[in-house]
Amino acid sequence: MNKNSYNIMALTPNTSNKRETVCIFGTGDFGRALGHKLIQSGYPVVFGSRNTQTPSLIPKDAEVLSHTEAAQKAAIIIIAIQRQHYSFLTSLAEILHGKVLVDVSNNLKINQYPESNAEYLAQLVPGAKVVKAFNTVSAWALQSGTLDASRQALKNETEPLNTTNAWLSDSYLALGILGFSLFFLLGITSLPSVSNNVNWREFRFVQSKLGYLTLILCTAHTLVYGGNRFLSPSSYRWYLPNAYMLSLIVPCIVLVVKFVLIFPCLDKPLTRIRQGWERNPQYPDKSNYIINKSAV
Ligand code: NAP
Repeated sequence: MNKNSYNIMALTPNTSNKRETVCIFGTGDFGRALGHKLIQSGYPVVFGSRNTQTPSLIPKDAEVLSHTEAAQKAAIIIIAIQRQHYSFLTSLAEILHGKVLVDVSNNLKINQYPESNAEYLAQLVPGAKVVKAFNTVSAWALQSGTLDASRQALKNETEPLNTTNAWLSDSYLALGILGFSLFFLLGITSLPSVSNNVNWREFRFVQSKLGYLTLILCTAHTLVYGGNRFLSPSSYRWYLPNAYMLSLIVPCIVLVVKFVLIFPCLDKPLTRIRQGWERNPQYPDKSNYIINKSAV
């Protein structure tokens, strides 16, 4: 950690009251991070460690002693050691008698041991007052301090809620889910076993009307995804459009042509042509043919 950083500035630098010394067993990640925070808060910290040579990462204001010596200096001892190494604490039971032991440990699995880690600690050191604390705080969160934006507010400002992005992301999801559901329905209706059981009108409705609705929803889904990126030159890397832009070309052409074709001036003649109308019929009208035949 950078010693000049904002994070290691004392939170209560000019405190006149001498604060109680806190002992931390273990000079690992969590012990060091908690030690930094306690020193910032004005508490003298002493570490209890197997190795009394002060490692470089230990806060410079902290002492590193053996477990026995460190425990004698404080009434509160934070056990920043994994549970599987707690057994050595039994040999310190006499020194730890009447002291507050803070268990910060977490297990790697649920129900890993029959009893909780704090209960196990209380069994090992029956004369101590065991409490559980800090286990839900990560060493990273303790070290990052004011850089952790999720917990600390640097500015006392409120900004109006930007509803545009919220609307866009909600619409994007809603259109996608609806489009995919209808697409799924279309796929099922295409199966011979299903299509054989629906009449012509139902089949036509699903394949034509619902087909276009699905196409509209899926196209709108991709358009909303693009949002205002369509207009941004940075979206066109190497002057090429993105894959989602390319995927819009065919659906957009189909929808535009369909839109043009539903105008009555085009729709009526087309419908008549589909029903068999011809400008210059090659054969005489069928009804006339029948009349003439009966006359003969
Ligand atoms: P760590 O970096 O591995 O440090 C554990 C420390 O325990 C070692 O540095 C060592 O300190 C001591 N130790 C190891 N083996 C020992 C042994 N056989 N006998 C005595 N001491 C031994 O682990 P950590 O991440 O700091 O975690 C420590 C405890 O805090 C764990 O119980 C963990 O569940 C809890 N915790 C951690 C975090 C986190 O973010 N890391 C968050 C919440 C809770 P010395 O070399 O100084 O003896």
